[in-house]
Amino acid sequence: MARVYNFSPGPSALPLPVLEKVKAALPEYADTGMSVMEMSHRSAMYLDIIHDAEARLRALMHIPDTYAVLFLHGGATAQFASIPMNLMVNGVADYIDSGNFAHGAAGEAVKYGKVSIVASSRADNYTYIPDWKGKLTPGADYLHITTNNTIYGTHFIELPEGDAPLVADMSSNILGEVYDIEKFGVVYAGAQKNIGPAGLCVLIVRKDLLGHALPICPKVFNWATQADNESMLNTPNTFAIYVAGLCMEWLQNQGGVEGIAKVNQEKAALIYDFLDNSKVFKGTAQKEFRSVMNVTFVTGDKEKDAAFVKFAAAQGLVNLKGHRSVGGMRASIYNAMPIEGVKRLVDVMKAFEAQQ
Ligand SMILES: *Cc1c(COP(=O)(O)O)cnc(C)c1O
Repeated sequence: MARVYNFSPGPSALPLPVLEKVKAALPEYADTGMSVMEMSHRSAMYLDIIHDAEARLRALMHIPDTYAVLFLHGGATAQFASIPMNLMVNGVADYIDSGNFAHGAAGEAVKYGKVSIVASSRADNYTYIPDWKGKLTPGADYLHITTNNTIYGTHFIELPEGDAPLVADMSSNILGEVYDIEKFGVVYAGAQKNIGPAGLCVLIVRKDLLGHALPICPKVFNWATQADNESMLNTPNTFAIYVAGLCMEWLQNQGGVEGIAKVNQEKAALIYDFLDNSKVFKGTAQKEFRSVMNVTFVTGDKEKDAAFVKFAAAQGLVNLKGHRSVGGMRASIYNAMPIEGVKRLVDVMKAFEAQQ
C-alpha cells in the first residue's frame, strides 16, 4: 500500500486509523451481522452511533445544552438557502464577503429578503478579511461570515461582535481552531474537510433561534423540524455520520481541538516561514489574515507553478494545485495531515527551489 500525502482542499485526507477501523467493520459492525450501511437508521444500534457522534462533537467543541446539533444533507451549500429561510424574520441580513463561498451564501439569501454586503474584499481577489467595524445594520436578523476562506487562504482573526446572531460557515476550519461556541448563533460545516466524508453537513444552532422559519421553508430545510426529529426527518447520511464519529474519536485522542490546534499552528508556520524566505515562492494572502488550514502560494510564473505541482506529485505529495481563481498552489493542511507531511512539503519546495 502506498498512501500519499494528500493536500486536497476537499474532500480531504482522513486519518488512517479511522480508515482501518472502517475497513475492519465494513462487512460486520460489532456483533450485528451487518455493515453500518445496511442498518436501519432507527435501530438501537444505529441510534447509539449517531448519539455517540453528537456527544463527541459536543465534548470537542464544548457545546452547551442551549444549542442543538443537527446532521443534515446537502453540504454547506444547502445551508446557504436554509439560513435565510430559518432566520430572516424581519427580512434583513448582513453578510461579510470574504471569499467565493461567502459570496455564494449571500447570493442565495437575496432570494428571501434584503441582504447587505457590509464589507467585501472581492475587488482585491479576497486576499484579506475586509473591515466590517461600524458598518453592521441595526436590527439585522443575523450576520453571516465564513471563518476560513478555503480558496484564498485567509481567516478571521477577530470575530465581529454585534447585536445580531453571528452565523458562521466553518466548513474548512471547524475542529481545527479553537472557538467559543457561545459567540455564535449558528455554526455549520460541510463535513468533507475537517469532520469526515462528504455528503453531510453539521449544523449547531442556539435553540432560541429555532421555530422562526419562513412559511415557504421546505420541511427538510427547517432546523426546528429537524431538531424535533433528531436529524431523522428522513434517512440521514448514516455512513458519513458513523465515519465522522470515528474521526471525532481520533481527534479526542489527539488532545481534542485544543491539542490539534497547536499542531495546526506549527504546521502552518513551517510553510509560511519558508515562503517568507523563499526566492521562488511567495504567499498570496495578506500576512495578518493567513489561514492555518489552507496555505496559498505562487511562483509568479504559471509554467513554473505547473512544474512544481508535477514535481511534488512525483514524490507523493498530491492535490497541490490552487483553485483557478487564485492560481498557483494551495496546500490544505487540515487535522488529518500529519506534521511529517508538511515537513516533506517544505523539503520538496526547497529541492525545487534549488533546481531553479
Ligand atoms: C467547501 C466549502 C463549501 C461548500 O461545501 P459543500 O459541502 O460542497 O456544499 C462552503 N463553504 C466553505 C467555506 C467551504 O470550504
